[in-house]
This record gives sequence, C-alpha cells and structure tokens, in this order.
Amino acid sequence: MSVIDLRSDTVTQPSAAMLDAMARAATGDDVYGEDLTVNRLEADLASRLGFAAALFVPTGTMSNLLGLMAHCERGDEYVVGQQAHTYKYEGGGAAVLGSIQPQPLEVQADGSLDLAQVAAAIKPDDFHFARTRLLALENTMQGKVLPLEYLARARRFTHEHGLQLHLDGARLYNAAVKLGVDAREITRHFDSVSVCLSKGLGAPVGSVLCGSPELIGKARRLRKMVGGGMRQAGILAAAGLYALEHNVQRLADDHANAWALADGLRAAGFDVEPVQTNMVYVQMGDTAEAFKVFAAERGIRLSAASRLRLVTHMDVSRAQIEQVIATFVEFSSK
Ligand SMILES: *Cc1c(COP(=O)(O)O)cnc(C)c1O
Repeated sequence: MSVIDLRSDTVTQPSAAMLDAMARAATGDDVYGEDLTVNRLEADLASRLGFAAALFVPTGTMSNLLGLMAHCERGDEYVVGQQAHTYKYEGGGAAVLGSIQPQPLEVQADGSLDLAQVAAAIKPDDFHFARTRLLALENTMQGKVLPLEYLARARRFTHEHGLQLHLDGARLYNAAVKLGVDAREITRHFDSVSVCLSKGLGAPVGSVLCGSPELIGKARRLRKMVGGGMRQAGILAAAGLYALEHNVQRLADDHANAWALADGLRAAGFDVEPVQTNMVYVQMGDTAEAFKVFAAERGIRLSAASRLRLVTHMDVSRAQIEQVIATFVEFSSK
C-alpha cells in the first residue's frame, strides 16, 4: 500500500532526477567559501529575489534565527505574529540564543499583522524598554498569501518607524505562484528573506537567507557560531538549484489539489476553511484522534488535531486526493 502523507509538505522524497543532480554536483569546502555549487545557489537565489547576497543553511529555523540575530543585538526587540513560526515553533531561539525579546501580536484573519497594533507596540526610546528594531512577517501564513498592497504598506510603515523588515518566506514561492507574480514583487519590500527549499520545492534539506552583503556577512559569522557551517554542502545545494529550476511552477498543481480536496470535503458536509495555496484546514472536533487511526489503517498519514491541517505536495497525486476524500466520506457515514 503506498502511503499518502498529508501532515506536511516537508515529507517529499527527492526524485531520481534531483538525486542525479546531487550526485553530479561540483563541491568544495563551503566554510572556506570554496563549494562551487553552494556559491552558485547563493548567487542564483539572491539574484532571483533581488538581493546582493545570500547564505545557504541547513534549516529554515536556522535561517530565521540568523536573520533575527543579524538585525538585532542583545536587548533589542522584534514584533512578530503570535502564531508565527519564528515566534512559536523555533524553540524560542531568538530569545534563548540572541537575547532578542519577542513582542508577539495576534495574527489577523488574512495572515497579516495589524500595523496600528504594531505601532502601538513599538517602545519609546527610554531605558526602561527593549529597543524595538524589527518587524517579522510570514508569507504564506498558514497557507494564506499576504496581499502585495499590504507588503507595500508594511514597507512604508517600517521606514517611517526606523524598523527593519524580515520575511519568513518558508513558502514564498507558494505565495508568488498563487499571485501569478515574480517572487521579487514580494521580496522587494523586505530587508531580509528566508526561503525553505525543503517544503513544497521538494529538496531534502536546506534554506537560504537573502539580504545585503553586510547583513549576510553577520549571518555567516553567526552560522559558524551555531554550528551551521557545512563542508561539501554542494551535494545539498544541488538539490536546491534543481528545485528552483524544476519545482516552482508546479506548485500550482499542489494548490489545485488542495482546492479539489477542500471542495470534496465540503460537498461531503465537512467544515473546511477557505483555501488559498497548499493547506486545507478542516474542523474535526473530538473525532480527530479516531479519524487519524481510521485514516492510518487506509494508508493515509495525518496529524490528530481538532483543526486538522492537510498539506498537499509533489508526492500526492489527484487520484490520491480522491482516495482521501473517499476516506473522509467513509468515516463520516460510519
Ligand atoms: C518549516 C518552516 C520553517 C522552518 O523550517 P525548518 O527547515 O523546518 O527549520 C520556518 N517557517 C515556516 C513558516 C515554516 O513552515
């Protein structure tokens, strides 16, 4: 039985063509700056996103951490969503390792932060307070795409208030593909952007932090400090380059599959949130655990959550989406 895994878009297996590109990668010691494929990936993504520099790192968590630590000193503060990955899902790294105080704010229904609330949270220049330095946004945010007009406002706002602006763009390309724009239309509003290669883009490992040469220089030093300096990392960077060349436009298929899944579940009477990209949220109430077991017996891997997240990706076909819908229907008619 082939398993359908909808827990996350991190579960994809590298394709034969991607593995072939990895096997053929020219490598060198990246801590010496000599890995040709890492250098190529950094230059390629920096130029794709309109930045002068970039840094390859093992994970998105490290990429965000280095970004926050490169922008902020000890005793500085960043404003961030209460539900944002950088705040909630990264072990408190910015506070623990960077001594950067988070100022979390509730995320709005569209995935944005209310700029009036951000303004009210900015601390006056007074030694009682941490120094508010940075606003961190996330796009997509739980599958939601931040409007371009909002990003332009956030950019003006941060300029007016002397803040830096960081994007956790783990799923930047899902947002760009959904909007039908070049990713630069999103990234041009930010001082730094973190992109995951190991989510919907299908690489096994890797994220890239983009920014100015000065910021990336600081991040490179911090990467060494947290143990993220890798040696012949070109075999991993090659997967990232392959992903950027082959797996961006196909994200539209994942979005179409998510849409079809949501449609099918709604038709079967399930309470499904509106879908924008590759995430479907279904209200399962107190049946979440029972359904997880029921689905697992039928080869479908899910999390057990009353607000169940289903994530589409390149290893889930449309036929398998139909199979998933049928399993929900079978469960609800028991
Ligand atoms: C997955 C993810 C990250 C972190 O990436 P890892 O490689 O798992 O550390 C950061 N932000 C968001 C929004 C993510 O989904």
